[in-house]
Amino acid sequence: MSVHCFTPAGTGFGYRDGVLCAEEVPLPQIAAAYGTPCYVYSRAALEAAYAGYVSALAGRNALICYAVKANSNLAILNLFARLGGGFDIVSGGELARVLTAGGDAAKVVFSGVGKSPDEMRAALAAGILCFNVESASELATLNDVAGSMGKRAPVSLRVNPDVDPKTHPYIATGLRSTKFGIPFEEALPLYRRARDLPHIDIHGIDCHIGSQLLDPAPAAEAAARLLGLVDALAGEGIALSHIDVGGGMGIRYRDEAAPAASEYLAPLLGVLAGRRERLLFEPGRSLVGNAGLLLARVAVLKHGAEKNFAVVDAAMNDLARPALYEAWHDIVTVEVSPGGAAAKPYEVVGPVCESGDFLGHDRPLAVDEGDLLAILSAGAYGMAMSSNYNSRPRAAEVVVDGGRVHLVRERERIEQLFAGERVLP
Ligand SMILES: *Cc1c(COP(=O)(O)O)cnc(C)c1O
Repeated sequence: MSVHCFTPAGTGFGYRDGVLCAEEVPLPQIAAAYGTPCYVYSRAALEAAYAGYVSALAGRNALICYAVKANSNLAILNLFARLGGGFDIVSGGELARVLTAGGDAAKVVFSGVGKSPDEMRAALAAGILCFNVESASELATLNDVAGSMGKRAPVSLRVNPDVDPKTHPYIATGLRSTKFGIPFEEALPLYRRARDLPHIDIHGIDCHIGSQLLDPAPAAEAAARLLGLVDALAGEGIALSHIDVGGGMGIRYRDEAAPAASEYLAPLLGVLAGRRERLLFEPGRSLVGNAGLLLARVAVLKHGAEKNFAVVDAAMNDLARPALYEAWHDIVTVEVSPGGAAAKPYEVVGPVCESGDFLGHDRPLAVDEGDLLAILSAGAYGMAMSSNYNSRPRAAEVVVDGGRVHLVRERERIEQLFAGERVLP
């Protein structure tokens, strides 16, 4: 049985004596101590993923702004902050998390198509590095908000380079048909307008063309298109101090030939060679995706007329990606079933009352009721997208560091689910 979410250094997750371990800790030990479902992250794998970017960017004036939405647990944000990372946020809530986790506001960029005036105020008060502005309307509002605070807002325009990233349509964001960014040909006039606004400081340019990108060419092509604009702006006396090329590098979920950070970034860095502007990157998935798994227990085996079902105690509310994008996650047994079960193809499903509540289709598994399964590559857009659908408390989260296990989020308690609700008088 293969587990691919190893870091190059061989850390992360792997089998030892037939038992799947997170670093040095056997997963059954974690299930016994913290229950299931439980997200398990490897500190070494998180740090190795970050180090991959650092070494790929060695010698460049670059800042890694981790995309908080991929996994916003405070422990993970704190880890990247300690490594010197910045952050890409998309809400006031994410800003509060970053600041609470010890992140440096001066390394925060704020993306998103619908920033509210309150969110703008909070970010201006904190002193963030830059707003990635996505529309003319947002630019005008930001100018007003900054003016009302006696400040000037640092901005980049998020430009839509109209490059096809060749990924799932739900996560392609750089085509002219998406809601994101400013159309390429409208960028120059909007920069001119920004220059004339009294409470706006132009700092940079930004793009983000999509997610789970395996081919480095589209990102390099997008960067080349941005450079054309940067040089046209310079010709009009608008000098930018940074170029933000977004995130999007893909990871291996199944059998994809996922690039290393150095391979993915090489063509992009080639395009950007010799530039004086600081380079910003906004990786999310590639920093956390393969550093986490979802640990679940088989509750019920049902052998139906056509299919066998393994009903586990994790569901679409814990990990939405399969239901939402038909995403593939490898699912493996944590140990050889003590009952000596024979392998059968299973529909791995959760207890939620939706036919779309599945984690994997047609997976060969040798399992008995009560056995533990690991749903791999679940560190990104896993816990962060979880919900309380079916009034299911959200899972616990732990970070393993060598032989130690740290609980970084308690399992939600049932009372917390409706603590804010009121009945009518
Ligand atoms: C989601 C997002 C990212 C991170 O994308 P990944 O595919 O997880 O690397 C970066 N920048 C912006 C603006 C985003 O919306």
